[in-house]
Amino acid sequence: MSGTEIHGREVVVVENLHKVQRAACEIARECSRDEFSVKIIVVTKTHTVDSINPLLAAGHRVFGESRVQEARAKWPVLRHRYPDIRLHMIGPLQINKVRMAVSFFDVIETVDRPRLAALLAKEMQWQTRWPDCLIQVNTGDEPQKTGVRLKDADTFIKKCIFEWNLPIRGLMCIPPLNEEPAFHFALLREIALRHSLQTLSMGMSKDFPLAIRLGATHVRVGAAILGDRDRR
Ligand SMILES: *Cc1c(COP(=O)(O)O)cnc(C)c1O
Repeated sequence: MSGTEIHGREVVVVENLHKVQRAACEIARECSRDEFSVKIIVVTKTHTVDSINPLLAAGHRVFGESRVQEARAKWPVLRHRYPDIRLHMIGPLQINKVRMAVSFFDVIETVDRPRLAALLAKEMQWQTRWPDCLIQVNTGDEPQKTGVRLKDADTFIKKCIFEWNLPIRGLMCIPPLNEEPAFHFALLREIALRHSLQTLSMGMSKDFPLAIRLGATHVRVGAAILGDRDRR
């Protein structure tokens, strides 16, 4: 039997994770940061429990999903086996999913509008459960995209912290598809510094090394670890 036959998909996925981890450590060191200061959020949207299992077996615990319903279908069984899983909500959050999101996720990265923020605050009080929150900033000021617009960002961040008392830990962005992301990462960092926020969730499979150089504390990596998704 040749080596490639026993070298299955499960092994490849874990190797990919280790590659990303090594790269993240190396870049952090180059930037004189703590080697382990960068958290890798493995983005598992569209991937099945079977593809996630080897990563859990290898010790990884931090994951991202972009749809509440899909996450609720996949993760309860895994959480039962691995209670220390940390699940990040990284997709647009609809008002009618707020209750479920508060009860289910450990981190909500996509707080981006007053109505959502107010409702999250109310729901957290009600459930006495306070998942960490990040504010998503539309750094490209794209009209169709989620995330608070740049001109509203400072006011919105202050209101989230001081009016709604949300547990805001930092900021998140998804740069426009066809633009050089460096500008957007630098901008996000600048806004976070203005508000003394520590967490910066930025960088995906194609640009996470750059994001770390520009200060990312969390990178959200899907394809580079789990392989390509079907377009949806
Ligand atoms: C899908 C997704 C990612 C991961 O993208 P990859 O290119 O697969 O690494 C990161 N962030 C968000 C918000 C996503 O929806």
